[in-house]
Amino acid sequence: MHKEIDLSIKPAYVKEYQNEYPLISKESIMDWSKITEEGTVVNLVDDRKKFICKGYYGRQNKGYGWVLSLKKEEKIDVSYFVKKIRSAIQYREKFYTSKITTAFRVFNGEGDGIGGLTIDYFDGFYLLTWYSIGIYKFKNAILDALKSSVEYKGIYQKKRFDAKGQYLDDTDDFICGEKAPEPLIVKENGANFAIYLDDGAMVGVFLDQKDVRKTIRDKYSKGKTVLNTFSYTGAFSVFAALGGATKTTSVDLANRSRSKTEEQFRVNNIDLTKQNIIVEDVFNYFKYAVRKKLSFDMVVLDPPSFARSKKHTFSASKDYVKLLKEAIQITNNGGIIVASTNASNFDMKRFKTFIDKAFKELNGKYSIEETFSLPKDFKVNEKFKEGNYLKVVFIRKLF
Ligand code: SAH
Repeated sequence: MHKEIDLSIKPAYVKEYQNEYPLISKESIMDWSKITEEGTVVNLVDDRKKFICKGYYGRQNKGYGWVLSLKKEEKIDVSYFVKKIRSAIQYREKFYTSKITTAFRVFNGEGDGIGGLTIDYFDGFYLLTWYSIGIYKFKNAILDALKSSVEYKGIYQKKRFDAKGQYLDDTDDFICGEKAPEPLIVKENGANFAIYLDDGAMVGVFLDQKDVRKTIRDKYSKGKTVLNTFSYTGAFSVFAALGGATKTTSVDLANRSRSKTEEQFRVNNIDLTKQNIIVEDVFNYFKYAVRKKLSFDMVVLDPPSFARSKKHTFSASKDYVKLLKEAIQITNNGGIIVASTNASNFDMKRFKTFIDKAFKELNGKYSIEETFSLPKDFKVNEKFKEGNYLKVVFIRKLF
């Protein structure tokens, strides 16, 4: 059993928790020294010791834990997790029956009632990601709950415990069932992706961009030249090529991005001779492109929210304007810039101010064609809007 401890909320924060804010912040609690062990169940009480809500202690960069229930009597046990997981599955009923998409998010942290845990589905295989030691302490109960709620081929996990949510390189990513083939081929809106469930932090595709990829393929690619920056395994390039792009260029500084991108093209029977894959710092590539007078009909920008390369440090909140200005200069008039960010420290409104600033500084004109945030399977908690971190804007460069 997990220990339960009462913690007093500072008076100024009681209302927040009463209004069902799910994140337990460091500064909202009187005395954290009462607990030492992550995974402790905490009952948050007001200054008269009246129960407000129940959660767990688990440290992430975001906060010190998550609220799990508003009921005093609730036991955080297998049946609690069964309830949450089954309701998450029910919400994704249609995804399970799709023949053209076989990879999606089944459980999205606080959006499904348990912050710090996500579960993804890859054609019969489940991948759990633990974002704190605290939530990992519930592993047995959560696994029991999952196993009793779904049919599965195999179950995998990723631990992202440290303050930055970085992957803990472990040997136990595989948990139980049968092992997935390497690669495991999944489908997304009819396209294929090669997935590796046991090969480091990332599996090969970011599932939250599926609507953006589909839009690129179905509406923007035919007959176009496409530059995909920070391309990782080239997922946007694949969809552009499938949509009839005359040529794609993918740029990423990670060495393995070349073979990974080639593989994604190959599993989709795309002619590799028309695709250009470049292993290089994006900022160097921009300089090269300007020097060589290269320009593109579509430029995709999807940088990490923070990255350090040999020469550059990039922070989305500080440097996105600069990145956009580089892209604008090599986008053809009438062309499209797909500006994407998963940075959670600014919202869509602010992101649009970056776009406006970049065009103004270059005396350019633009129109916004469409915008995207998280897709439906990445369920968002209405009381925690910052959980909807994804912001994607399709911008048309007018002149
Ligand atoms: N757009 C990708 C995901 C990007 S992940 C997709 O849709 O799948 C971020 C990628 O940026 C990583 O692959 C990382 O290697 C790359 N990266 C980080 N800094 C970079 C830089 N300065 N130049 C080129 N690539 C960079």
